[in-house]
Parts: sequence; C-alpha cells; structure tokens
Amino acid sequence: MIIKTNQDEIQNYLSDASNFSGNCRSVYLPFSELEIIEILKSCHQTKTKVTISGNGTGLNGGRVPQGGIIISLELMNKIISFDSTAKTITVQPGVILKDLQDYVESKKLFYPPDPTESNCFIGATVATNASGTRTFKYGPSRDYVEELRIVIPDGRIINISRNQFTAKNFNGKLIAEDGSEINFTIPNYKMPKTKNASGYFCAENMDMIDLFIGSEGTLGVISEIKLKLIDLPSSIFSCIVFFNEEINALNFIVEARDHSKNDSAENSSKKCDAQGLEFFDFNSLKLLAEKYSQIPAEAKAAVWFEQELSNNYDFIIDTWMSLINRYNGQTDKSWFAVNKNDQDKFKEFRHKIATTVNEIVTKRGLKKVGTDVAVPDKFFVEFYYLCKNKVENHNLDYAAYGHFGNSHIHLNILPKNLYEYELSQKIYSEICFEAVERNGTISAEHGIGKLKRNYLLTMYGESSIKQMAALKLVFDQNKILGIGNIFEEKYLNY
Ligand SMILES: Cc1cc2nc3c(=O)[nH]c(=O)nc-3n(C[C@H](O)[C@H](O)[C@H](O)COP(=O)(O)OP(=O)(O)OC[C@H]3O[C@@H](n4cnc5c(N)ncnc54)[C@H](O)[C@@H]3O)c2cc1C
Repeated sequence: MIIKTNQDEIQNYLSDASNFSGNCRSVYLPFSELEIIEILKSCHQTKTKVTISGNGTGLNGGRVPQGGIIISLELMNKIISFDSTAKTITVQPGVILKDLQDYVESKKLFYPPDPTESNCFIGATVATNASGTRTFKYGPSRDYVEELRIVIPDGRIINISRNQFTAKNFNGKLIAEDGSEINFTIPNYKMPKTKNASGYFCAENMDMIDLFIGSEGTLGVISEIKLKLIDLPSSIFSCIVFFNEEINALNFIVEARDHSKNDSAENSSKKCDAQGLEFFDFNSLKLLAEKYSQIPAEAKAAVWFEQELSNNYDFIIDTWMSLINRYNGQTDKSWFAVNKNDQDKFKEFRHKIATTVNEIVTKRGLKKVGTDVAVPDKFFVEFYYLCKNKVENHNLDYAAYGHFGNSHIHLNILPKNLYEYELSQKIYSEICFEAVERNGTISAEHGIGKLKRNYLLTMYGESSIKQMAALKLVFDQNKILGIGNIFEEKYLNY
C-alpha cells in the first residue's frame, strides 16, 4: 500500500464538491482487500478514526475527515470479472463509473445508474445509493447490486449476496466469513415512498444487503461489488424541448411522467416510456446561455427526456411530438438526437448547469445551498412553486433544475454574501421541513454526510437517530469508521 503523510499531498483529500473541508494525519491507499483489513484492524486496536474516500465528488462532506486517517480506494480500480451470459460484472470499489459504463456498453450491455457526475467511484455510488437521470425508469444503484464484500471495522469480512440473509421482522442476522454471527435490531422508522437516500435503509423483513447500500461509509469498507447489467437499448431518442411558459413545461412533465409510469406498468414498448425527465428553469437557462448561444432567447423553461426506441420508432416519436405540441413546446427550436454523439452533448448540457452553479458559489468564496428534496408526485407542482416563492420573496439568486420526473428538485440558492448565505440556509431548512410535512425526503440522492444531519433529525426524529447509532455500534464497537456521517458522534455515546 501507499501511505501519504506529507500535508501537501494530503490536501486534495480534505474536501469534496460541497467545499466542506477537514483534516487528517495520513492517507492510506491499499492495493487489496488484505491491506484494507490490515489498516482497519490496526485502527480498531488503537481507536483511530478512519474516513473512507471515493473520488470526492460527493456533495455532503461524507468523505471529508475530521481527524484520524483516510482510506482512499483509488488504487483498487480493477474489473475482476465479467459474465456476458449472466449479465453481471464484478469490480473493485475504485473503478470509475464512466469507465464501467463504457466497458459494459462495448459488450452491448448497460449499467443504468448515472449520477450527473460520472467521475465517481463505483464503491462510493453503492455507499451513497447514487441515482441520476435514468433512475426515473430504472431505479437507483441499489437495484443493481447483487453481491458485496465488506470489511467491517474490526477486520472481519461480510460477503453477502442478494436474497442470502433476510431479516426476521426487525431482527437482523449476518454471518461473517470467519463464521461469527452478527445480530442486531433494525430501526423501525418508516422510509418515505419517494426516491430516497436519507439514513440507513431499514424495513421489516428486509434483505440485509440493502443495509450496506447507502450506509455512507459508516458500517464497513466496500471492497468488492457484483453488479447486475441489462441489455443495451438498440437506440435512444433524446430531446431538449424549450417552452415559452414555465407551467407548460411542468404540465408536460406531469403528463409524460404519468404516461411513462402507466405504459411501463403495462410493459408496452409502444408508447411514452421515458428513461428520464429533467427540468431546467429560466434562471438555469440564463446561466447556460453564456455557454450555449443556441438556447432560444424567449425560452422560460426546458425539459430533457430520453426514451429507448425499438422497431416502432415512428409511433414513439409521433407520441412525443403530439405531447410536446399539446403543451406548446417550441418544436422548431428544440433539440432532437438519435445518435450517441449528440446525446452526449445533451448530457454535457445537464452536467454543465450543476458545475456552473458550483463554480459561481466557489468564486464567491461561499458554499452552495442546494436542495435534494423529493415529495410524492401528487404534491410536486405545488411544492415547486412553494420553494420558488420562498427564494423569490427574499430576492435571492437561484437556479432550479433536476429530476422532476421523480418529483425531485435541486433548487440551488446562490448567496452573494454571508448574510444571504445564512438566509439561504434558513430557507433551505424550511424547504426540508415542507418536504417532510408532505411525506417526502430531505435527501433523494446525495445522502446525509456531515452537512445534512440536522435535517435527518427533523425527518425521522431523535429516537430513530439513536436506533441508527445503536445499529452502527454493533459493527463498529470502537467508534472509528465514518464518524460524523449520517448522525453526530454524540449519538454513539448514549
Ligand atoms: C456536478 C455534480 C453532479 C452530481 N449529480 C449527482 C446525481 O445526479 N445523482 C447522485 O446520486 N449524485 C450526484 N452527485 C454526487 C456524487 O457524484 C455521488 O454522491 C457519488 O456517488 C460520489 O462518488 P465519489 O466517488 O466522488 O465519492 P466520495 O465523495 O469520495 O464519497 C462519498 C461517500 O461514500 C463513502 N465511500 C466511498 N467509497 C466507499 C467504499 N468503498 N466503502 C464504503 N463507503 C465508501 C465515503 O465515505 C462518503 O461518505 C453529483 C456531484 C456533482 C459534483
């Protein structure tokens, strides 16, 4: 393994894309699972804190250390095996998502989870249950995890496949590779039915593999991952439609969403069956206009959607075109693509808004205040206007975009000074509260990390947080791993 102790070399590991920063003594870069075991056993004995690092694209400070050491998985970046018949791939945690996607696509297979930032590590996408545009049709990372190897803080290994260990009511039991039993109580809070990445996945009679997916580096180091793949769609129809009225764009999404859900349920390949439905508000388009002069000047909002095409190509395109016309989409000025090159440009357009927002706040020397909330579909449009009015009432700069097909909003407030930053945080907190009031979630995909713990407390209440901490202690008796992620350290001391 490589160990970095020089503070200059360590700097890059001390923050993530949220701009939150921390400190640590040294960074360990293991080449193998055996080396992870060695590091964890030693830290367990000496009670040294360990933070696990992926590629640092997280937005909540999850990989940011608060002392102790870092384990970075960047050197464990090999594809271990690929099975085209079973349609599975087994990888080390440091494989970059984009590399995995390109590899399986070259074999005519497809790995759907696609966080907008594809420069992240697969291990981290599992640890955060990352989602993306295509989650609308295909679900989050969780749905593709078949098997995990996890090194828990005392150095034992858990090798777990889907359907291997199921909880009995709220009683969980796992058997480590050395034969030892691990028994624990699963917290009994009710998770929202929306897309969700808030806290441990907990449910009666749950599959125990789901506990580790989305556990944000607090229960163990994921050292190997077997993923399920699906067939690569033969071709895809992509479109960015511009609308001159925002409400038309929203209503277009609502109808396309409902159509897609119904058509998917009927398993028909003939109608509207979007992979993703993404929204851009006027302010987002204004920010993007500096880089994309082709955006129509009169556009007040835009929607990006994609759908697989099969042999009923004309029928699918006609269905979408009539939907676009019904909501006065600007068909003559919208962008359509059926080839991968152009589709990648649309993806870049979507990625650009997220990075532009980050650049603006970083230049201002402040931190982004961006929501990751989702609500049940029936509240979506009303909730969107409520969020928007809150920021407009205070004359704050903002850009709203995101995975509206999943009723999931990234409303990014762009404060210009410290006063506006504090005001933005107050509004952010109110929006989280409003989402929870509607049985929604405070984090649909980015997770909790160290920056959203208070909102998780609002969402589930203190007794649930204590249940999560009690569960963590079963795996991490010496309180060393991912301390401060999901809940404050003080909950480990009750
Ligand atoms: C511009 C931009 C757009 C984004 N868009 C999306 C999006 O659409 N959807 C989405 O879900 N996310 C999105 N993200 C967030 C981010 O890309 C994801 O959370 C991603 O999964 C983080 O991967 P990473 O390798 O950078 O992990 P890091 O940030 O390094 O770590 C993330 C967390 O995972 C833990 N971890 C890492 N590796 C392991 C391991 N092997 N075992 C156990 N725990 C581990 C860390 O401790 C930390 O808590 C976006 C980020 C940016 C900057």
